[in-house]
Amino acid sequence: MTTESHTPVLALTTLSEDERLFRDSVYQFADREIRPHVREMDEHAKISRDLIDKLFELGVMGIEIPESYGGGGASFFHSVLAVEALSRVDPSIGVLVDVQNTLVINALLRWGSEDVKRRYLPKMAASMVGAYALSEAGSGSDAFAMATRASQHGDDWSITGRKLWITNGNEADLFITFANVNPDAGYRGITAFLVERGMPGFTVGKKEDKLGIRASSTCELLFEECRVPRANVLGDVGKGYKVAIETLNEGRIGIGAQMVGLAQGALDHTIAYIKERRQFGKAIAEFQAVQHQVARAATDIEAARLLVYNAARLRDAGQPFLAEAAMCKLFASEVAERVTSLAVNLYGGYGFVKDYPVEKLYRDAKIGQIYEGTSNLQLETIAKQIVG
Ligand SMILES: Cc1cc2nc3c(=O)[nH]c(=O)nc-3n(C[C@H](O)[C@H](O)[C@H](O)COP(=O)(O)OP(=O)(O)OC[C@H]3O[C@@H](n4cnc5c(N)ncnc54)[C@H](O)[C@@H]3O)c2cc1C
Repeated sequence: MTTESHTPVLALTTLSEDERLFRDSVYQFADREIRPHVREMDEHAKISRDLIDKLFELGVMGIEIPESYGGGGASFFHSVLAVEALSRVDPSIGVLVDVQNTLVINALLRWGSEDVKRRYLPKMAASMVGAYALSEAGSGSDAFAMATRASQHGDDWSITGRKLWITNGNEADLFITFANVNPDAGYRGITAFLVERGMPGFTVGKKEDKLGIRASSTCELLFEECRVPRANVLGDVGKGYKVAIETLNEGRIGIGAQMVGLAQGALDHTIAYIKERRQFGKAIAEFQAVQHQVARAATDIEAARLLVYNAARLRDAGQPFLAEAAMCKLFASEVAERVTSLAVNLYGGYGFVKDYPVEKLYRDAKIGQIYEGTSNLQLETIAKQIVG
């Protein structure tokens, strides 16, 4: 066997110099600027505008936006690295950045006309937060059964309906909103609209009081004959279902990254704690049973990270990634629940109280199995790919 004919294949976790510097700078920022405020943001269920401005300055609010529009000109994989690094410190900040990049900007880049890109991308890279409004009270998993309607009035569209559970609802100025323009055509009537805060007939309603990721706002949106200019249709009329599905297929890789970061954060805290906590005259980290539990958690996280990185790299390479994306979100969200539960156990009583960080991460982990497609829906997607 000759060695010359073999091109070495890099490990999935081997980062380029640029990726490593980016990931490290985001983590250092999170450690310095976010960590001191995590508990207070959770208690007050709020992210300060000051912190959001710093995220823009850091360059994580327009990662894939081309440099010509003022963005970072980086890859989807960079977005995944940023979401993971931020979620290791606070998954609420992780999801703010995730929705901005992997859903809103991703959809604008893919489906936006040149006019839409020119009008919105520079703002999105500089100061504008985005939200992605698909779900409603009666349509979650069955998202295409939405009741929100749009009809044409001269040069405008008029949207009437209610959206529920919309992440970034409080902070966003741009809302990608899905409405059906022709219910008789079923899902083929669904159309994506770019709704700006302040457009007549649009209001942000109640903010949910949640179990976890409390600092991330989750809001109801109300549309009462909301007037949207024709130029604010994203993609084609009647093709919003494609915008919705294809963006979410990619977006859920970001949720996988959020869950990997969250689990890693919980493990980081736990390893530091078990080395300090002493029982029976020694550090609890010296008990083999504890070491094995931590070893299993680290193995779980590594496996989840490989699934997430593989799905993201497939997406960037333009290769099929549908099953891989569903697998990474399914698995990473289960890992996050397992690892944070173990973290609470290993902290003992201290794991159950808010003075220590793992109680919050345990609450935060639960959302991974619900949004951007529940675990049952991920299993459906995977099964369709492998069973047919
Ligand atoms: C914190 C938070 C943030 C969110 N952010 C956003 C956002 O930014 N934008 C947005 O549009 N939405 C958002 N959502 C909504 C989220 O995507 C939905 O909650 C989710 O898709 C589930 O829909 P549902 O709540 O209506 O549950 P349902 O669809 O009613 O599901 C209830 C249960 O039934 C199961 N089920 C349903 N259908 C099937 C089936 N065919 N086979 C097997 N089991 C099934 C589900 O797995 C689940 O366990 C958010 C939700 C939360 C809680």
